[in-house]
Amino acid sequence: MSKAVDFKCNLCGNNKAKQIPFRYEFKGRYLWLYECNACKLRSIWPQPNSHEIAEMYAANYFTEADSATHHMNTDYLALLNSGNYADGVAYMQTYTTGGNILEIGCATGNFLYALKQAGYSVKGIELSDFAVQYAKEHFNISLINRPFDEELLGKEIFPKEFDVVVMGDVLEHFTNPTSAMRLVQTILKPGGVAIIHLPGTLNLISSKIAFLVYRLIGSQKTMHIPPYHLTEFNEKTIRKMCAVAGFSKVIVKHDIKHPNEIPLRGSWLENLIKKWLQYPNYFLTKRFGVAGDRITVEAYR
Ligand SMILES: [Zn+2]
Repeated sequence: MSKAVDFKCNLCGNNKAKQIPFRYEFKGRYLWLYECNACKLRSIWPQPNSHEIAEMYAANYFTEADSATHHMNTDYLALLNSGNYADGVAYMQTYTTGGNILEIGCATGNFLYALKQAGYSVKGIELSDFAVQYAKEHFNISLINRPFDEELLGKEIFPKEFDVVVMGDVLEHFTNPTSAMRLVQTILKPGGVAIIHLPGTLNLISSKIAFLVYRLIGSQKTMHIPPYHLTEFNEKTIRKMCAVAGFSKVIVKHDIKHPNEIPLRGSWLENLIKKWLQYPNYFLTKRFGVAGDRITVEAYR
């Protein structure tokens, strides 16, 4: 397997990595998935540059529905507006019945609005100008329209400010997830919790078998959507990242889609295999809490 030029692991700083037969075709070049030889964190290398990232999250990220160029079939805005936020509020109440909540990558602010109505004190961070404007107009919520990084500390967010920090499907989009987790740890109150939802489809049995087959035949899976996910986590790597960031206790839960609910975007053969393997995988995840396609992390300061 070829070596990534100038690879540097975001979690441990190591520069040796193994190429995974998975890549994005993006703007005339290939961005490959690499696994760090030391800590096993998997990340896309090289990363798209900052201009490309800004372009990836422009207004059409929220308003277009096209699984060929975007990441889902449903228009994101419609999806956000159809969400069941009462369940989200009830879920939050299992952690704290009041206090300060921060949502990082809060999109159009629907969840924050529901939390605010329920009496929580809320802040949200969102990179998309479109989403921030939408939140202001529809929910009268003023979001922090800047990247989540050290620059915000002491200005918009403060050490030990929050009871709960929520990151729903966002950490895998960060260019520097380790420093993001350090910052989350800093702004949590002692005993506060970060609730992190992560996709884990590459941890499924079907993905592991596919990578094995690709390796054997000298081929790879090529994605023709923008590289939204820059890091692919599994339970071990997210645990390591939380430990490096200084969290004292980490709980990881796996969940999985029912075979009838999984998106099938490959060839008929790929789809058939993927669907059939989801059955034993579904049993395994539900019974033993491993190898799911969704990971939920509770990281306590
Ligand atoms: Zn590493």
